[in-house]
Amino acid sequence: MSYKYNVLAIIRGTTVDGPGFRTSIYLAGCRHACPGCHNQQSWNPDGGEIMTADDILEVVDEEDFDVTLSGGDPLFNPESTKHLVDLLAERGRKVWIYTGFTWERIVADDMLMDAVRNAAVVVDGPFIERLKDPDLPFRGSSNQRLINVAASLSAGKATIIPA
Ligand code: SF4
Repeated sequence: MSYKYNVLAIIRGTTVDGPGFRTSIYLAGCRHACPGCHNQQSWNPDGGEIMTADDILEVVDEEDFDVTLSGGDPLFNPESTKHLVDLLAERGRKVWIYTGFTWERIVADDMLMDAVRNAAVVVDGPFIERLKDPDLPFRGSSNQRLINVAASLSAGKATIIPA
């Protein structure tokens, strides 16, 4: 299967979407419609530039950085996101995924779970304006959690990275 990705931006060397220098890939499309969303132009699933997984990997491979998938919400396209996450994980990249779905919602849905299974961390949940805290590392509101995927799967519940 050859997947296409609507890519809003690829930013190399960012430090705000997870630890260390990372390559962040912003994928178009989100239907959570969180009030106060900082990036409403990312909601349109047809936005951005159409790229293949090979096109994206070509950019990622220019650096040794770990990778963050954000948007938009990559989990509105779980099959293509799974494909990309698996390719990145095969290359040894630790993948963080930002999503408006909660961890509990993800584990209840086989397609969502498959999409994140080989990721290192899921930053979960919608942005909630009244819980906004600009001092929180790597997330916008205090309901959002940094979830260690492997540890959560083995524990059978969300296991949170303190930050
Ligand atoms: S999940 Fe993120 S991109 Fe989607 S509406 Fe909420 S804040 Fe905006």
